[in-house]
Amino acid sequence: MTSLQNRADVIVVGGGPAGASTAWALARNGIETLIVDRARFPRAKPCAEYLSPQAARLLHEMGVLEGLERSGVTTLSGMRIHAGSASFEGNFAGSHGFRGFRNRGIAVRRERLDALLLDAARAAGARVLENAVVQDVVRDDSGAAVGVSLRRDSTVIELRARHVVGADGIRSVVARRLGLARRMRWPSRYAFVTHWEGVADVGDGVTNVAVVTDSSRATAAAGDADGFVVKLVASHATLAPHFSHARQISAVLPTGPFGSRAKAACAAGATLVGDAADFYDPFTGKGIYAALRGGELLAPYVVESLRAPNARAQRAALEAYDRCRRHEFGGKWRLERLVSIAVAHPPLLALIARRLHARCDLADLLVGVAGDFVPPREVLNLRFAMRLFAPLTATEAA
Ligand SMILES: Cc1cc2nc3c(=O)[nH]c(=O)nc-3n(C[C@H](O)[C@H](O)[C@H](O)COP(=O)(O)OP(=O)(O)OC[C@H]3O[C@@H](n4cnc5c(N)ncnc54)[C@H](O)[C@@H]3O)c2cc1C
Repeated sequence: MTSLQNRADVIVVGGGPAGASTAWALARNGIETLIVDRARFPRAKPCAEYLSPQAARLLHEMGVLEGLERSGVTTLSGMRIHAGSASFEGNFAGSHGFRGFRNRGIAVRRERLDALLLDAARAAGARVLENAVVQDVVRDDSGAAVGVSLRRDSTVIELRARHVVGADGIRSVVARRLGLARRMRWPSRYAFVTHWEGVADVGDGVTNVAVVTDSSRATAAAGDADGFVVKLVASHATLAPHFSHARQISAVLPTGPFGSRAKAACAAGATLVGDAADFYDPFTGKGIYAALRGGELLAPYVVESLRAPNARAQRAALEAYDRCRRHEFGGKWRLERLVSIAVAHPPLLALIARRLHARCDLADLLVGVAGDFVPPREVLNLRFAMRLFAPLTATEAA
């Protein structure tokens, strides 16, 4: 093993949105930060590539939003959800007094977005080491994280730091090595993501197609992921006509199973952020916002722990981050669970879709939650459920 005298205050494992956002905020606080990623950027990432109106605030803070907007990025005015023969639409323009940072979402290729975010972290002063696969977390005699060991080409290198951030996505090595990883048995979903051109344009003349399915269908698709997606699109009454003259331009990227939530987002000398801390289901499509916001939340607690006078005070700072994270994202986790239950029961989903079709104000509120500018508590209450299932007036039922 080669041991480099390469130290940083903080090593951030993973340079996706969570790692870039964390490193950006730390570097701006004068913390010597090193991002380590196994990929070379720009790199592909299976994703539906939708960014919520409120994610725009974090892109703006990092100095990335205006450039994206100037380059003519595709914007989304809301969401249309189909459930069998039922469907409803919600608008991002604002609802019940809530407004997003922008009144539109953004569709942008992850190759482009993630490279821009990493550049923003670099510009703030973070160093970036690409093509470096972290294999383990190095710990001291007390068990506290003091660095990582990684493989770069065929060399194993040990890098030391005062704090390690696991921002390495859904199958986080950092979470696993620290004993924090926890898989959720249900729902067990997989996704197949590809790009087509010649359909409704969502940026660069390209449309993203992301199929999320259960484990039995995903297993059946193994070996022919492209055929699986093509057949599914062709058999879908609403989608098929849009794809009649379209051309698939990228191979299907399969990913899954999803469903993981760390037992805690901290351990001695280390923290987790983004999908490494929790990822439930891509249906509500909020992962990029949560990754960026997670980094914004985490950075001040890491700074506090680095300045703490002793191990006890360090631990207290990191545990406060864990609590803050639960407070921030708890509502989102509960809503995702309810959405999953509805998706697993198509008649229930269709009933809710019909109700939301008739109640545009409630549809806007729900889509505002998906847009990250309406707090989840606005829809996670008895009053919302009662209004949703109340008898419709003649106009609403028409
Ligand atoms: C099918 C699907 C569709 C989705 N659609 C949307 C959507 O439309 N909108 C939305 O907001 N969210 C969506 N999401 C969720 C979103 O993609 C994630 O929540 C987001 O990417 C999380 O960012 P992250 O930085 O935590 O992790 P990632 O983006 O996964 O980044 C992790 C980084 O860590 C690196 N890494 C991993 N292991 C190691 C290692 N051992 N050593 C070094 N580096 C490592 C990886 O190379 C990667 O760059 C979707 C997810 C899926 C699966």
